[in-house]
Amino acid sequence: MIGDACHATAPKLAQGAGLSIEDALELANHLKDFNHGAYRDMESCFDAFERKRIARAATVQLFADIIALVGQLENPRLIKLRNDIMRLVPQWTKSKVFEFVVKITLGWNYRPPKCVTFSLPTSSHSSIDTD
Ligand SMILES: Cc1cc2nc3c(=O)[nH]c(=O)nc-3n(C[C@H](O)[C@H](O)[C@H](O)COP(=O)(O)OP(=O)(O)OC[C@H]3O[C@@H](n4cnc5c(N)ncnc54)[C@H](O)[C@@H]3O)c2cc1C
Repeated sequence: MIGDACHATAPKLAQGAGLSIEDALELANHLKDFNHGAYRDMESCFDAFERKRIARAATVQLFADIIALVGQLENPRLIKLRNDIMRLVPQWTKSKVFEFVVKITLGWNYRPPKCVTFSLPTSSHSSIDTD
C-alpha cells in the first residue's frame, strides 16, 4: 500500500500528498529494480520498499500528530496554558522551532527518490488553448 491508505497524516505539515507522491516514485524504482533481477521475489521487493519508506512516513506522522494534539486542545486550562506559553516564547524561537520541525520532517539526509521517466503518447489535444 502507498499514500494515506498506509500512513494517513494529520494535515498540519502539508506533507501528506508529498509523502504519497514519494511512495509512488520509490515503489516504481523498486519495481524497476525487481525487473532487473535485484530481488529474489516480489515479497522481498515490497519488504525493501516498506523498509525504505517507513521511517520517513512515521516521522512526518508523529510530528503532525503532536502539532494536531497541541493545536486542537479542548480542555480550557490546557488551552490557556498553551496560549500563555506561546505568548511568552519570542517570535525568533518559534520560527527556529518551526524550521527545525520542517527540517526533521523533510529529513536532513533525505534525498528524493530518483525520477522515473515515462513516455506519454503525443496527442493533438495535449497543447493548452490560450484563447
Ligand atoms: C484538510 C486537509 C488538508 C490537507 N492539506 C495538504 C497539503 O497542504 N499538502 C499536502 O501535501 N497534503 C495535504 N493533505 C493530505 C493529502 O490530501 C493526502 O495525504 C493525499 O490526498 C493522499 O493521497 P492518496 O492518493 O494516498 O489518497 P486519496 O487522495 O485519499 O486518494 C484515494 C482515492 O481512492 C479512492 N477510493 C477509495 N476507495 C476506493 C475503492 N474501493 N475503489 C476505488 N477507489 C477508491 C478515493 O475516492 C480517492 O479518490 C491534506 C489533507 C486534508 C484532509
